[in-house]
Amino acid sequence: AKGLGKGGWQRYQSDLHTAMVQRLEMRTQLIEAIEGEQFVLQYQPIVELADQRITGVEALVRWQHPARGLLGPFHFVEAAEESGAIVGIGTWVLREALRQFAVWKAEDPSSTLRYVSVNVSPRQFRSPDFADVVRQALADTGARPEWLLLEITESLVLRDAEKVLADLKALRALGVRVAIDDFGTGYSSLSYLRQMPVDVLKLDKSFIDDILHSRQQHALVDTIITLAGNLDLAVVAEGIEESGQHAALDTMGCQYGQGYLFAKPLWPADIPARTQAASEL
Ligand code: C2E
Ligand code: CA
Ligand code: CA
Ligand code: CA
Repeated sequence: AKGLGKGGWQRYQSDLHTAMVQRLEMRTQLIEAIEGEQFVLQYQPIVELADQRITGVEALVRWQHPARGLLGPFHFVEAAEESGAIVGIGTWVLREALRQFAVWKAEDPSSTLRYVSVNVSPRQFRSPDFADVVRQALADTGARPEWLLLEITESLVLRDAEKVLADLKALRALGVRVAIDDFGTGYSSLSYLRQMPVDVLKLDKSFIDDILHSRQQHALVDTIITLAGNLDLAVVAEGIEESGQHAALDTMGCQYGQGYLFAKPLWPADIPARTQAASEL
């Protein structure tokens, strides 16, 4: 703290102290929130680009905070990851999403829904009993393993590749599928991913944003879609907001998409009406 001066140093120390107290308070609140059932899920449709039929949904967590109202993940996921509370939250999300999905399938067996996508944080994925948590959640909810798609991040795949590989194999052995989320924002390459047993690539919104305006971005996305196809990976383009983007991605051979153009994240009650097979409409 060279150059801070005496007053500056004290202020620095007290800021540090405040930050620490805030982190501890947040951690306590997050744990209370799990116990108090303050988390809720919204579901964002993932559509088949060719006909816009809803093929899956992504579960997205929100915190119904007693004082601050409905909070999106931006307000708490990072703190939850740092404090470790994300492991408990993630288990709740997984179980709730599977429970809800099994209800939808039971209520409408001809629903166009094939899977629910669940985000798994790095810390949650690395917890030693993660595969058991998944197995137990499937058993308790009666959900079929093929209904579950786990979204993990690129950074996770890069670190600790051998352990991740073993864990992915264990999950795959259960019949569960795995997606790489936010693909393109990290450092992994497709050739590297080929060695990982994953099924789906989710192309990050930052790639999609510019495809209509930048020839380079367009070419890059086109190349990724082609290579992914050669590796038998399905591609979901994230953050589609304009019909021009939809058309361009469809032309490039991208099969699936997600974004405000099709639907924002929805409350569970609003999903069934949108997932009826055409013959029922
Ligand atoms: P993500 O996994 O990339 O999820 C997609 C995010 O993009 C969602 O934000 C969604 O609402 C938003 N989005 C979807 N389509 C569009 C679009 O067309 N335009 C724009 N501008 N945004 C769009 P949300 O729900 O705020 O979630 C943010 C992030 O929080 C997620 O990013 C994910 O990383 C994390 N997250 C959400 N739920 C969970 C969870 O249950 N567990 C963990 N570990 N992380 C979660
Ligand atoms: Ca995701
Ligand atoms: Ca994503
Ligand atoms: Ca993203």
